[in-house]
Parts: sequence; structure tokens; C-alpha cells
Amino acid sequence: MPIPATKYIWFNGKLVPWEKATVHVLSHALHYGSSVFEGVRAYETPRGPAIFRLRDHTRRLFDSAKVYRINVPFNEDQINHACREVISQNGLARGAYLRPVAFRGYGEAGVVPKIDPPIEVAIAAWEWARYLGAAEDEGVDVCVSSWQRVAPNTIPAMAKAGGNYLSSQLIGLEAKRLGFVEGIGLSTDGTVSEGAGENLFLVKDGVMYTPGVAHSLLAGITRHTIMTLAKEAGIEVREIAIPREMLYMADELFFTGTATEVAAIRSVDAIQIGNGKRGPVTAKLQAAYFGLVQGKTQDKHGWLDYVDMSAPRAVVAS
Ligand code: PMP
Repeated sequence: MPIPATKYIWFNGKLVPWEKATVHVLSHALHYGSSVFEGVRAYETPRGPAIFRLRDHTRRLFDSAKVYRINVPFNEDQINHACREVISQNGLARGAYLRPVAFRGYGEAGVVPKIDPPIEVAIAAWEWARYLGAAEDEGVDVCVSSWQRVAPNTIPAMAKAGGNYLSSQLIGLEAKRLGFVEGIGLSTDGTVSEGAGENLFLVKDGVMYTPGVAHSLLAGITRHTIMTLAKEAGIEVREIAIPREMLYMADELFFTGTATEVAAIRSVDAIQIGNGKRGPVTAKLQAAYFGLVQGKTQDKHGWLDYVDMSAPRAVVAS
């Protein structure tokens, strides 16, 4: 299924018709992976649509850009405002997945030309179901990939750049080829890193474990949300180096991510995890997560950014 089109994409400061948000084939990012991006979700709540942790996502976009010396020609407030506009002007009241992206565009040739190519920024949004599919509630079958994640001080894993997803593609493609839903990457020291597009949590004897950010992973915003919700529920969370075998010995395993949300894992490399079903800690945190993002429980941390759907029609560039 191709991405379901909405009316407008915000592109370099203006809303343009979906089909007109195009770039030149010689854009720097297309050849050299020089884009930074975010995946953000908006949810339907009793008070209208709300974007979950929008400011944190935008902050991370600018942090990623900083590492690659990409000077985004907008400030964070402008990007946040644009994200809200993309939801309201497309009438996405039932929620959506937002994709802000900033990239080196069409300019001089070369990896590092004398004059930096212009930085282009786009924000699209569309309705997107849960990333790993409906089986999430029962748990998905995953494998450990033969491909490792990038080594520290090679490609920075904490910067969410387009080029990083070559590693994710290798891991994900191998997993699918072998009949698994997703693959887990190990760090170069052989300890657990993360899924191709998700962070990973393990539960053993009532304690939650997840690899620390030095293990070549994206410091997921959902990861942080889940760690916060776990602590609030009185569950101990430890960030440690996780040996591969600890995956197989876990009582529960689950993925977290904006697109994935909270997805139980029922087997790794065809070894059953726990009783082969979503475990109680996973179920509890999944319920807490959906309660929060859907505005059904108290938003203690001010993480919901409500979108005014009655905002006046914006001017659309042709
Ligand atoms: N790791 C990788 C490689 C990802 O692509 C994602 C999805 N952005 C995550 C982790 C989860 O991050 P977040 O919770 O911020 O979406």
C-alpha cells in the first residue's frame, strides 16, 4: 500500500499540494544520505487531536541536524507550528503519523562542496496503522540479525539521520527474508542494541532492562516515555549492557517506538519468550502508554500538544 495521500505537505515554509512536494534527482541527500528526520504521532483524544511529545521530537531533529552541521533554516517553534498546521489543514482529526525531514538539497556536486547545498525541510502526515501489524498484542516473532549496528564513532546512532537506516534495512530485510517480523541488532561488542526501528526492553523477575545509549542506539522518545511510566508504576528500570543470551532467558520482551508504539515479542530466533504471550508488565505499560497518548489519563508531563482544528485555512502555494 503506497502512503495514503493527504491534501498538503509543508515544504520549505509553505503548504503545497501533496503531489507537488518534489525534489531534484541530484539532491545531495539522495546520493549521500544527508537527511535528518523524525517520526511523530498525533492521536485522537477526547479534546481533539494531540501530537505526542512534539517538542521533544523537534528538539531531537535539531540535535540530529547539529551533528551533521545541517543548518535548518527554521526554528523549533516554526517547525512545531508547521506540524500542527499539517494536522489541522489536512483534517487529520483521527490522528496521524508525522514525518518532518531536513536535508541537503540540490546544489554543487560533491560530498562536501565548497558551498553547502541548500537545506530543504518538509513535513508530511498521513494515517498509519501500527508498524509491526495487528499481531502485536499477542507478540511478534523476531530474530537476532547477522548484521551488527554501527560501531561507536563511525556513524552516530543517536542522530536520526537517513543514512543510519541502511543498517536498519539490512537487519529488517534479513529478518523478513527468514520469515520474522523484525530483526534485533547487536552492538559491535556483541551486546544487545535495538530493533531495526525500535528500542528493546526485557523483563526478568519483575525488573526491566534496556541497553544504555552508548550501545549504538537511538535514544527513543517512546523508550523514555516507557521508562517514565514504569518508574511511576513502581517498576525498577535498569540501563545495562545486555548479553544476547539474556534475550532468550527473559520473562517478557517488547519493542517501543513511535510507529511501533509498544509491541510484545513472543519469540527470538524461534525460542519462546516467557509463556509465548504478551506478559503482564508489557500489558500494563502498553495500557498506560495508550491511556496517556489518547488523552484518557492525566498528562502529568505536558506531553500532549493539542491541535486546533478550527484554525483558519492556510494559504497554499501552487
Ligand atoms: N530506534 C530506531 C533505529 C528507530 O528508528 C526508532 C524510531 N524512531 C526508535 C529506536 C524509537 O524511537 P522513538 O521512540 O523516538 O520513535
